[in-house]
Amino acid sequence: MSDEREVIVVGAGPAGAITATLLAQNGHDVLLLDRHTFPRDKVCGDAVPAQAIDILNRAGMKGKVETAVSRGEFYPLTHMRLVSPKGHQMVAPLHQGEHNSTSYVAPRFYFDALIQQHAVEAGAEFQQMQVEEPWMENGRVVGVKARHNNTLENLRARIVVGADGVTSAMTRALRPKHAQHIDAHRAVALRAYIENIEEFPHEVEFYLYKNILPGYAWIFPTGKGQANIGLGMRLDHFRQTPRKLKAMLTEFLEIPAIKKRLKQGWKLRDIATWQLNFGSQKHLQLAFDGAVLVGDAAGLINPLTGGGIHNSLVSGKLAAETIHGALQRGDVSRTGLQGYEKRCHESLWDNMKRSYRLQKTLIRFPFLVDFLVNRLQENSALAQIFLTKL
Ligand SMILES: Cc1cc2nc3c(=O)[nH]c(=O)nc-3n(C[C@H](O)[C@H](O)[C@H](O)COP(=O)(O)OP(=O)(O)OC[C@H]3O[C@@H](n4cnc5c(N)ncnc54)[C@H](O)[C@@H]3O)c2cc1C
Repeated sequence: MSDEREVIVVGAGPAGAITATLLAQNGHDVLLLDRHTFPRDKVCGDAVPAQAIDILNRAGMKGKVETAVSRGEFYPLTHMRLVSPKGHQMVAPLHQGEHNSTSYVAPRFYFDALIQQHAVEAGAEFQQMQVEEPWMENGRVVGVKARHNNTLENLRARIVVGADGVTSAMTRALRPKHAQHIDAHRAVALRAYIENIEEFPHEVEFYLYKNILPGYAWIFPTGKGQANIGLGMRLDHFRQTPRKLKAMLTEFLEIPAIKKRLKQGWKLRDIATWQLNFGSQKHLQLAFDGAVLVGDAAGLINPLTGGGIHNSLVSGKLAAETIHGALQRGDVSRTGLQGYEKRCHESLWDNMKRSYRLQKTLIRFPFLVDFLVNRLQENSALAQIFLTKL
């Protein structure tokens, strides 16, 4: 059919935008859809590790990243600080990436727009549309049903990439109910921006304390006395506590060591909550007949750190490579796309398993946090493990 697209990517966050970029750079016809126009906010801690920046640099974004840094939109990071329930602290340098690339706090308002713009410049066509569900024929995905200005359209494509985040309409339709995420592999988190706080320059701060475990609170500076601030908790544990996230944030700000850093006229803005789906749940299906899932739609967030941007970019890159091969071979069936699932598993699973095991240990033995942070103080190499997979 003449109006059939080669690839439709649903969602232009980091996962979708990098998939679209790499496919367009390889000469493919790509339609990139998002329910929002860009720039737009996304609830996140905004911490982007150097390894994620490496993927962007390799996709040709080095100049764009440098411009964002020079405009003050991305705030460079050099260290991380981890604080235990008893107040033990360790500060460790962050790993640099290829060619000394750096980690950043990059508010998603800027970060996502940069990659979405790069996808468009690479040749992907962008349209603002809300995808309702995949378009199925004989059990295969043959496109999407998408709404624009109250009109529902059927858009046909040889392959569809579900990159529509944690509330993915693609995932809901494609994964059987029994294979959806369960609460023990999910988290809920609150994010705000704080103004007029005394920051530790170029340091991301993680606070683990009794009322938040299994989870943590964070302060990630964005420069000029402002920071991304928030906290998150595993969903099954959160459901058992009567406390609300907003009250928990107020409690966090009352901790004396934090309170004394709040300056005259401090305030919170853009408070919002969102969910996280961990990649530690076994047997998550990522490839289907005519479709793949990437990023949060696939559920690939690290269960210990809550970091998902790097994994989103990794999955987008692997998906683009597999799709390129599948289109060339003319096989977009699940069998033709299963290489993506396998490579994602190989790249991410070991780390997911380790992180989940550690997360569960900390829940059962919270005193270990104090012990570990004390030990980490003396071992910065060990300390870095906490952040390298953010
Ligand atoms: C509170 C919080 C803090 C976090 N902090 C960090 C952090 O500091 N560092 C880190 O690495 N990770 C963090 N994460 C995880 C990170 O935000 C995600 O892993 C990452 O955003 C995943 O990218 P994505 O492209 O898969 O999905 P998203 O970024 O969610 O993008 C999905 C896109 O799809 C679009 N969309 C959704 N539904 C539809 C539809 N039906 N039709 C069309 N478009 C649609 C959305 O508008 C959006 O643009 C955090 C998450 C939360 C909730």
